Amino acid sequence: MHDQLAERLAEIDDRVAAAARDAGRDPAGLTRIVVTKFHPASLVERLHALGVRDVGENRQQELTAKAADTARLDDLRWHFIGQAQTNKARAVRSAASVVHTVDRTRLADALDRAAAPDEPALDVLVQVNMTDDPDRGGAAPDELDALVEHVSGCATLRLRGIMAVAPLDEEPARAFARLRRYAERVRAIAPEARWISAGMTGDFVEAVHAGATHLRIGSAITGPRPERG
Ligand SMILES: *Cc1c(COP(=O)(O)O)cnc(C)c1O
Repeated sequence: MHDQLAERLAEIDDRVAAAARDAGRDPAGLTRIVVTKFHPASLVERLHALGVRDVGENRQQELTAKAADTARLDDLRWHFIGQAQTNKARAVRSAASVVHTVDRTRLADALDRAAAPDEPALDVLVQVNMTDDPDRGGAAPDELDALVEHVSGCATLRLRGIMAVAPLDEEPARAFARLRRYAERVRAIAPEARWISAGMTGDFVEAVHAGATHLRIGSAITGPRPERG
């Protein structure tokens, strides 16, 4: 069968690797997360069969449902990339291997308290809001240092780095250059927090050039998203 999914995945991976080489970086240092939101669990199974191990969702209910439906797939890691409510912290924590969107101390505390006894530390990133719109999610840049210090003090969270979505009205290269400076601020406080989660279908090349370590790519690989139910 003519497998468009396999073709798109291979094509994007080629483009990611080319961007890395262009930027003088080792492609092996990049994690390509396939964002599967709005697509059925069967798509995750097909991706897994093609070797994909990192998948992302932006809504807790969909994350919980798909993680349950795909629980038998080996080594699958779910990345939560959406806005999280504090009262869903346990649900997020039990489904996700990584939470990219810690943007306030209350959410960090909720995730921390949601740890089951003896559960391994949860990998988290702090999300920075690169727009002036507080509804977009993410901490304002001037709140970042305090948030990083707070998360670093949460015993069951392991701070890995920073995440952002480039604004629609700013050139991605410019936005990601700003993000890189925020990432340096994070590392000045938490030297182990080296991940930069940035880059989507429309801007992953710029993100790779700006030092992104985790790319969140959806539609370029999965095809257009089905209508939201
Ligand atoms: C949907 C989504 C993506 C992927 O978007 P595409 O443009 O389809 O690649 C990446 N990051 C976040 C936070 C998302 O919600």
